[in-house]
Amino acid sequence: MSHRRHIPIAHPAIGKEEIRAVTRVLCSGQIAQGPMVAALEKKFAQLCGTKFAVALSSGTAALDLGLKGLNLCPQDEVITTPLSFAATANMILLQGYRLVFADINQQTFNLDPDAVEKKISKKTKAILPVDLYGLPFDFPRFKTIAKKHHLLIIEDACQAVGAAIMNKKTGSLATMSAFSLYASKNITAGEGGLITTNQQKLAQKVKELRQHGQTGASSYDYRQLGYNFKMTDIQAAIALEQLRKIKTLTRKRIRNAQFLSQHLAKIPGIIPPFVPKGFTHVFHLFTIRVTAKFRLSRDQLLEYLQQNGIDVRVYYPQPLHLVPYLKKMGYNYKKGDFPVAEKACQEILSLPVHPLLKKMDLKRIIKAIKEA
Ligand SMILES: *Cc1c(COP(=O)(O)O)cnc(C)c1O
Repeated sequence: MSHRRHIPIAHPAIGKEEIRAVTRVLCSGQIAQGPMVAALEKKFAQLCGTKFAVALSSGTAALDLGLKGLNLCPQDEVITTPLSFAATANMILLQGYRLVFADINQQTFNLDPDAVEKKISKKTKAILPVDLYGLPFDFPRFKTIAKKHHLLIIEDACQAVGAAIMNKKTGSLATMSAFSLYASKNITAGEGGLITTNQQKLAQKVKELRQHGQTGASSYDYRQLGYNFKMTDIQAAIALEQLRKIKTLTRKRIRNAQFLSQHLAKIPGIIPPFVPKGFTHVFHLFTIRVTAKFRLSRDQLLEYLQQNGIDVRVYYPQPLHLVPYLKKMGYNYKKGDFPVAEKACQEILSLPVHPLLKKMDLKRIIKAIKEA
């Protein structure tokens, strides 16, 4: 079987348009932050339906500056999910806020509103839900909770550009949202990130923080302590071309996911992704559950598919409350604290779903799982 085409878990959809756009920027004499970044910010805000978008060097930088921009006090509590990429929890820690986890919903893999409500204390100031795998967080429920307890919502939309709830796009749901343009994400610039918001003050603050607190790109008027988290025009040029293709790319992801779900649903012990009514899931990842009813264990299935040239992965094998450095920082989280997230880590498996897959590839994935 080793002669068969390797099916990667992710593949950036880069065409001649991106290559030409980069060449134009390289020849223009302006390759750092410039007009392409400004154009990207305008287009990205339009896509999300927000007043502002600010381009940054990564999704991590977007979470970091967004959290900083909220001006919370040290030790104010921010509640988030244990099932995410480490950046989500790490930026809360690096901003000096108190990291509080709440368990996830077992069907959606996203933060569970009921579990969050139980964790709210006098010190809680914000909730940081993640649109995991491309499915928006339960915004209707969280909006009610945030209102009742006077909390801010910061959305980690790094995996969910173009997703929506009843046509209201990710990026427009929360006080502030963070996006990533990393190579494996639905649209990419290699590296890169953005924040979106409707609050002018927050957007302005993030714009200053990305360039050492300076008010303009080359003024030495330092308003606040800041970083260099700027995006280059080279990256912005790639991202602008990707934005032109986002509808087609997303449609292909959704179609691939539908095809996989339809066939995998019939296999005992395989649970395909759940999409709540009114939600648009953009399938950054297509994550199934492999339960005890399946003939093989999750890890055995992973190995079998890998050996057959199908690149499947576990996002994520370890819940974030169990990362080793939390203990040293004075946190006492332990195994058993978040049973739904912990069980998910044992059962989840992400299959290739990216737009460059052919029907033949999808059929091969389904066939391999049936044969396993
Ligand atoms: C990718 C990702 C990030 C970080 O984005 P980078 O651009 O890689 O820094 C943060 N959160 C989630 C959920 C992600 O998937």
